[in-house]
Amino acid sequence: MKEIVCKLLVIGAGPGGYICAIRAGQLGVDTVIVETVKAGGTCLNIGCIPSKALIHAAEEFEKVSHMAGPKSPLGISVEAPKLDLAKTVAWKDGIVGRLNSGVLGLLRKAKVKIVHGKARFRDGKTVEVETEMGTQVIRAETVVIATGSEPVELPSLPFGGPVISSTEALSLKTVPKKLIVVGGGYIGLELGTAFAKMGSEVAVVEATQQLLPQYDAELVRPVTKRLGELGVRVLTGAKAKALSDEGCALLIETAHGEEQRLPADRILVTVGRKPRTEGWGLEELDLDRAGRFLRIDDRCRTSMRGVHAIGDITGEPMLAHRAMAQGEMVAEIVAGKKRVWDKRCIPAVCFTDPEIVTAGLSPDEARAQGFEIRVGLFPFTANGRAMTMLSEDGFVRVVARMDTNLVLGVQAVGAGVSELSSTFALAIEMGARLEDIAATIHAHPTRSEGFQEAALKALGHALHI
Ligand code: FAD
Ligand code: NAD
Repeated sequence: MKEIVCKLLVIGAGPGGYICAIRAGQLGVDTVIVETVKAGGTCLNIGCIPSKALIHAAEEFEKVSHMAGPKSPLGISVEAPKLDLAKTVAWKDGIVGRLNSGVLGLLRKAKVKIVHGKARFRDGKTVEVETEMGTQVIRAETVVIATGSEPVELPSLPFGGPVISSTEALSLKTVPKKLIVVGGGYIGLELGTAFAKMGSEVAVVEATQQLLPQYDAELVRPVTKRLGELGVRVLTGAKAKALSDEGCALLIETAHGEEQRLPADRILVTVGRKPRTEGWGLEELDLDRAGRFLRIDDRCRTSMRGVHAIGDITGEPMLAHRAMAQGEMVAEIVAGKKRVWDKRCIPAVCFTDPEIVTAGLSPDEARAQGFEIRVGLFPFTANGRAMTMLSEDGFVRVVARMDTNLVLGVQAVGAGVSELSSTFALAIEMGARLEDIAATIHAHPTRSEGFQEAALKALGHALHI
């Protein structure tokens, strides 16, 4: 096969890689992208999008089921609903398919050459790709590594049989009667909640003392409360040991050191993700590492000249929008523009029930960085819109510098707060002070009024509490 020579080679077409290639193509850079599986990567095919589709379906099902019960105060009654998970999964696959074709279309529109197959480094500027047509060699001036991450496997609970990763969990055809989730982080709680709403009996086994240990206890409390209402059993400080001999139960060690046997149809292991660095010649390049991840600088350059890395392979936070922002920046750098990573915050959303949003520094993080701070917290129990939506749990919390009132961080937990994440990020990115938030008219009645009220609270004159 004839060798391809190009200016930019992007390896991996996840959100990092495809955005990088599209932007480079728009800027007239001669670009090739290689992808083993499907354009869109983890995010579009087996991550963000399919999980949010299932979470939505589960939410709708639970809402209707709740209405069918005697406890709903809304005056609506319905017959007991049924869920056909195979149909739900087919609907989810349809969305994935549409977005998948969309990404391929955008790449073609930007005149990016797409090569299907697994890339393997020959040297820092050359890869060979096993394609259906044979081996394709690609030589580039600049290479961007965007090969993402994959689920961490527990040695005592290897994937297979009843032990599944998020990938399999997103394509189950029936709702497991008993589901055990090992790892109470992002994926475990998002999917664990969804399956609980779809009717599974769910138990979450988390090694640390708190679910979602990356967040402070105040933010996680409403989520833990709701898990209790949904009947989810939460075992913190517990260790998953192994499958029982018959294979239909998980043996765990509880926080008190006792062994327990938890019956299970499926065991979903979500104990983190690791960078995809092995088995494709990357080891031989011997790039500097930051732990297991590739070390990068503020232009996403690795330790080898002309080799950049973006997305999950570069470490935490492993979020699609970070990967995209890095991809866009690197494309512009390759096209000759002066760019540097100067973001003040990367917002994060956990799509639990209720949702959690964080942007910038939490009170503890701000104090740890030596800031004297003021904190304003506004509970949704005092928000009219929250009351009308029958979901008053949660709050908005603003963290600001004591001396200048510069907003350092905003966190929220509550129904639908994911949509406030960009408002929070915008405030931080634009260097807003508490007075700017307080002086901005927030439409009524919306949950976003909680942001204005939290800023007013921090200034000492909240109006609605
Ligand atoms: P990836 O999306 O992993 O893409 C890498 C691509 O490279 C893959 O397509 C892979 O096939 C390809 N590849 C690997 N090796 C090679 C090779 N040698 N040759 C050619 N191609 C190769 N993030 C959020 O921000 N919000 C969410 O709601 C969210 N939900 C998630 C839910 C789940 C269940 C999971 C698993 C993840 C979720 N994430 C979420 C994380 C998000 O999916 C990742 O942060 C994001 O996909 C990382 O993008 P990336 O481009 O770095 O890598
Ligand atoms: P995670 O790091 O969020 O959570 C892993 C959890 O497993 C932690 O709470 C950890 O303490 C626990 N754990 C580790 N080893 C354990 C063991 N042996 N037994 C019991 N518990 C154990 O990881 P994840 O949920 O696998 O998600 C991976 C990444 O994907 C996240 O870091 C996140 O960046 C990304 N993601 C993001 C979203 C989102 O943005 N909404 C959603 C899903 C995934």
